Amino acid sequence: MDRELACEIIKDLLPLYVDGMASDVSKKSIEQHLKHCEDCSEVYNNMVFNLEMEEQLSEVQDVKRFLKKTKRMYFFYGLCGLSFISILVCMIVDLALNNGITWSLIVGSSCLFADAFLYVILDCKKNKGCMAMAVLSIGTFVLLSVIQITRYYLMDTGTCWIFRYGFPILLLWLGVLWFPVLCRTFLKWNIWDCISLFMLLVIIGNYVTKLIIGDYVWNDVLHMRGFVSNALGEVIGIILFGIIGRVKNGYNNV
Ligand SMILES: [Zn+2]
Repeated sequence: MDRELACEIIKDLLPLYVDGMASDVSKKSIEQHLKHCEDCSEVYNNMVFNLEMEEQLSEVQDVKRFLKKTKRMYFFYGLCGLSFISILVCMIVDLALNNGITWSLIVGSSCLFADAFLYVILDCKKNKGCMAMAVLSIGTFVLLSVIQITRYYLMDTGTCWIFRYGFPILLLWLGVLWFPVLCRTFLKWNIWDCISLFMLLVIIGNYVTKLIIGDYVWNDVLHMRGFVSNALGEVIGIILFGIIGRVKNGYNNV
């Protein structure tokens, strides 16, 4: 066979050979050829060298990723440890002073809540916003209920406010937080539009909160009473972020 043609064929086959994918017959002829062709040997050596470099690089990246994850997890375990200690201290004080567990319930649920939230932020890759909001929603519900139960039913202090004020206001503000996060996650809105929507919802939130706690009646809301304190900042924000959102969208579409 023409020598030049043989070299070309070998060079074509080398990638397969380096990857260990060549057939036994090809392997034998390649090895035979490499023994007495300097040109092809050089190409072969370069290929092996590059492959080794690539492997080393990806190993370094693996190690880096592992260290980063480990560091985050140690941070998380540290906070869990701290939570455990604070719950334990509260339980001891509780049992010593009240002969019953009261404040440790509140401290315990707050700590669990904070730990769960942190875990999601550190470890969740997909739909981080939604997962964080889910933990936040469940966590605040549990926390409010625990505070109410502990204070009103176990400690005989305070009033029952959770149904009249607690849950309605909580639901309202969770809605204010959820809508922008959902738009971001599922409708892929840009972040500026989400902030604008959030600010619009904050205005509604401000007024409805005042309705719930009885500061305002419907008529006040219709006349937008206290516009400066309830809505002015947000309106400016909506206009500002709305403009930024439009400009950014324009760039993305070009
Ligand atoms: Zn050759």
